[in-house]
Amino acid sequence: MALIVQKFGGTSVGTVERIEQVAEKVKKFREGGDDIVVVVSAMSGETNRLIDLAKQISEQPVPRELDVMVSTGEQVTIALLAMALIKRGVPAVSYTGNQVRILTDSAHTKARILQIDGQRIQRDIKAGRVVVVAGFQGVDEKGNITTLGRGGSDTTGVALAAALKADECQIYTDVDGVYTTDPRVVAKAQRLDKITFEEMLEMASLGSKVLQIRAVEFAGKYSVPLRVLHSFQEGPGTLITLDEEESMEQPIISGIAFNRDEAKLTIRGVPDTPGVAFKILGPISAANVEVDMIVQNVAHDNTTDFTFTVHRNDYNNALQVLQGIAAEMGAREVIGDTDIAKVSIVGVGMRSHAGVASRMFEALAKENINIQMISTSEIKVSVVIEEKYLELAVRALHTAFELDAPAGNTAE
Ligand code: ADP
Ligand code: ASP
Ligand code: MG
Repeated sequence: MALIVQKFGGTSVGTVERIEQVAEKVKKFREGGDDIVVVVSAMSGETNRLIDLAKQISEQPVPRELDVMVSTGEQVTIALLAMALIKRGVPAVSYTGNQVRILTDSAHTKARILQIDGQRIQRDIKAGRVVVVAGFQGVDEKGNITTLGRGGSDTTGVALAAALKADECQIYTDVDGVYTTDPRVVAKAQRLDKITFEEMLEMASLGSKVLQIRAVEFAGKYSVPLRVLHSFQEGPGTLITLDEEESMEQPIISGIAFNRDEAKLTIRGVPDTPGVAFKILGPISAANVEVDMIVQNVAHDNTTDFTFTVHRNDYNNALQVLQGIAAEMGAREVIGDTDIAKVSIVGVGMRSHAGVASRMFEALAKENINIQMISTSEIKVSVVIEEKYLELAVRALHTAFELDAPAGNTAE
């Protein structure tokens, strides 16, 4: 008998009918003899609705109170699912993060899980109950409700699987696995049978929201077998695996990720002297703004232009700080741009192949897409481009790296 943790995302519990369907599915698993712990998200759209309510009161709501509120979305779905199971004769009980005691740090709206008390859940499992746990939430040492960041129910699922030493963590969603790129943008995207943790981490951190990055980190760290599947269609899904197969067939690129949530800032004409990068980025990081890509160009007149990207939510804050720095340093000007996007190619196959980046640049050049910034690591190449060319770029790269599905074999 196996213990399986199953996480169902927002669209999979988006209506009462769907919740009933999920209950049917869980019931079938139970009849097959497995013990099941279910993690659910809020009904689709609910978390956004709640955040909007808060923003009507204040542009920047107090994080502690925001967490008290947004955590209610998941509390509704756990109770509804438990009711639907009990109605079907399946013993079930629901718990909030606080009730389980999913202990987190106190970083409201982006808390990290520190510890999970699995005892209560183990007792319920022994008593034959299906345990339904609220995703996305926990409690800090002082008893404050915390949340884990958008998409955080994935992390609840994986962390519970690790704590309970489950045999598998299954992430059920509205696509039937992890694709070579977002199947909603590229119809010819293909489902991957497997992807390595390392690649999935890159994909998640570079914008593929199919799994929250912390969920992948957790699964890698605690060796939790992790699979992404469609909630209501049969199929093998995608296994996230540790092993990197050394096969000739392995594609150089496994996937393409993209992110629209970035903004670019440039400070022009700063003196090209030691310590410039620190003078600029020190105050930015002191303002709690995370910097992603950085480029510095030296001009002929002993001045330099310094460009970096930040999350779009941090743009106004970063711009203000940068204007202050510019005045202090006597820089020529500060320029901001929010109409950018980042496109990345990811694959462990890059390690053993030269020329991957130039192939990427060639494909973009053929479409006349200008590259504004570039960054590389061992298994990825990212470029910043104008946002309006994003979809074109993703499609062109998908074709250039031979990821397109054969005709008639597409996602939807
Ligand atoms: P859930 O509510 O179930 O957590 P999400 O919306 O968070 O679902 O994640 C699933 C979505 O992720 C898909 O609908 C798809 O549009 C998007 N997505 C982005 N990149 C990929 C990818 N490489 N493979 C599959 N889905 C992807
Ligand atoms: N409901 C939360 C969100 O919308 C958490 C999740 O769905 O994973 O981000
Ligand atoms: Mg999600």
